[in-house]
Order: sequence, then structure tokens, then C-alpha cells
Amino acid sequence: MRVLERKSLSPLLEALRRRGYEVIGPTVRDGAISYEPLSSADQLPVGVTDEQEGGTYRLAERDDGAVFGFNNGANSWKNHLFPPELSLWKGRRDEDGEIRFTEQEHRGGPYAFVGVRSCDLAAISIQDRVFIGDAYVNGDYESRRRDAFIVAVNCAEAGNTCFCASMDTGPRAGDGFDLALTELLDGGHRFLVEVGSERGEEVLAEVGSSPAEPRDVAAADAVSEDCASQMGRELETDGIKELLYRNVEHPRWDEVSERCLSCGNCTLVCPTCFCHSIDDATDLAGTESERVRRWDSCFGLEHSYVHGGSVRQSGKARYRQWMTHKLATWIDQFGSSGCVGCGRCITWCPVAIDITEEAAVIRATDRIEAVGINADD
Ligand code: SF4
Ligand code: SF4
Repeated sequence: MRVLERKSLSPLLEALRRRGYEVIGPTVRDGAISYEPLSSADQLPVGVTDEQEGGTYRLAERDDGAVFGFNNGANSWKNHLFPPELSLWKGRRDEDGEIRFTEQEHRGGPYAFVGVRSCDLAAISIQDRVFIGDAYVNGDYESRRRDAFIVAVNCAEAGNTCFCASMDTGPRAGDGFDLALTELLDGGHRFLVEVGSERGEEVLAEVGSSPAEPRDVAAADAVSEDCASQMGRELETDGIKELLYRNVEHPRWDEVSERCLSCGNCTLVCPTCFCHSIDDATDLAGTESERVRRWDSCFGLEHSYVHGGSVRQSGKARYRQWMTHKLATWIDQFGSSGCVGCGRCITWCPVAIDITEEAAVIRATDRIEAVGINADD
């Protein structure tokens, strides 16, 4: 373990840029923390924190000069690895009558992601499984992800809507990073650095660091322990798949659907949601056409359209599909939960629907138990 001085953060970003990375990191945009391209360390949100609750998000000042003293904002690294809109190809009828197609090249990267929280590391690894972890590799995702350099940041304070500890995805990053920083404010502003790869070690050597002392390691451990004990939410995951499968007809789905607006915010902010649609558009003259991939949401009526109509007509069916996929069918499909406990869907739901509360209510009123049937039957 090493220690990086606060003043070395800017040289760290410079070293990444010198190596050809496009540096993406947190900054303040439109009143929220957002992961955006950074041209300088001055754009980092120094002295900024956030206050989050169901349906509520606001930034506030903090007086300790912390650089990473906030939790997740609305966007995630998904916006860069799996962008909301992507042109796949364009076709054009030339004057000689020939139709010519141009495949769109990936324009970004290689990326250095600075400030990745442990829940988002888990989300990236879930999307890796979906897009590049099987026989059918998504070329665009692969090219964005392949050389991405990851600087993780361990959370010091849990947000009110966070529940990564329940999902076993945080608050401390375990692997999947090149460097992992824990920000230490007491006894001098500095970062404890864990090195996760050879290239991480090379970058750190360029920047300069010192060996960590036992007090640095102990301080970082205390930061992570404090954070884990402050989780704003909790989700009981034991047997959750079976719980949801046997409660497909639970009356709670009707109750939640009376509040749910089917706006799809929860799917847009979720760092693991991967649904997308493919649209073709032709210009009015009929000479140009483009195929575009766009994020889609299971809250849209068209999402489940099969010839003749949509399978999930009601808001109830769509909410149930979303939550059951996240917490149950995802496990059958990909071998893990589709939820990493980042809390974004709770914060950014306009009517404050809370996945942890919905799961807890269904557990507390488990239909099988309620009618006295043995769940093992
Ligand atoms: S749960 Fe909330 S965010 Fe999701 S679709 Fe319903 S109202 Fe929108
Ligand atoms: S379902 Fe909600 S809490 Fe879970 S990963 Fe998605 S946005 Fe985060």
C-alpha cells in the first residue's frame, strides 16, 4: 500500500492523459454530480457533498475540502461504456444510384475512469458479463471497455439511499481496479492507495507516492467500517429469487403500480440496465438512412411488443417485471443479482418508490407463508 498526497491528484490525472487516456471523472453539472470528461483536476467537485433521499437530490457544501465527499449522482460509467444513443451505420444512395453503407466507428477512449465506487465496479462487471462475457460480443462495448483504466474511490460516507453492504458490493472495492484510493482527511489530506495492476503501479511510480504507514492503513480501514455501518437502506437477499417467484400475484404489485408513473427513470439511472432498441430512420428525400441504438426501458409499452400487442400492458406488470428481473430472474440469467445497491433508482424516482421497501413488504407478507403452505413444497 502507498500514500498519495492531495497535491499529487493533479499529476495523477496528467500521467493518465500522457498515456493517451481520456480522463472521465466526477464534476458538478446541472446541480448534480456527473461523470464527465475532465481536462483538469480543478473540475473535481472539491468541498461538495450531496443529500439524497427517496425522490430527492441536492448538492451542499462541506468545509473539509474533501475531493470525493459525495455519493453517486444520476449518471454512471454506463453512459460512457454503453452510451444512451449510438449510431450503428449510415446508408446513402449516391448520384450514380448505388447505395453505400458506412459503419460508425467508436469515437471515444481509451478511457481512464477516475472515482469509480465499489457498487459501480460491480455494475461494470455485470455489464461485462452481458455484453462481452459470452459467445456474442458487443463490439462497441468491447472497444470502450477493453483498455479502460480504473481508479476506484472507496466511499467514506454512505448515502441515505445506499445499500451496497446488503448486496455485498461495497463499500470497499475488492478487485477490478488499477488503483483504489481511500481519502483520508484527519492528520493531513492524503489518499491510501491500493494497487490492482501492473499498469496501475507504473502510473503511480510516475506520480510519486510514499509507503503507507500503519496509521494510514488503520485510518482507511476505519473509514470503510464507518461507512458500512451507516448504510441508509438494507435489502434482505436470502432466498429473494424464490420469494419473488412465488409472489407473482402479490397484492403489493397493485399498490405500487398506483404510484408508479412508468417514467422509466429507474432504468435510465440504473448502472446495470442494458435494454436497448434499434431504430432505422430515413430522410424525407429517401437518400439517407441511419440505424441507431438507443437505451430502452421495460417501463415502455413498446418494450414488450410482440406482433399484435404488448405483453405487459399494465403498469403493474411493468414494475413487477423490472423488480423481479433485477432481483430474481437476473440470477438465473447471469448468475448474480442485477442490483448492486447503488440507490440511484430510489433517489431519482419522482414518487420515491423504493426497491428495498417493496422487497421488504413482500417478504413480510409472503403469500406462501400467509396461506400456510410450506415454501419447500
Ligand atoms: S418506479 Fe419510479 S422511476 Fe421507476 S418507472 Fe415507476 S415512477 Fe418512474
Ligand atoms: S436497481 Fe436501483 S439500487 Fe439496484 S443497481 Fe439499479 S439503480 Fe442501483
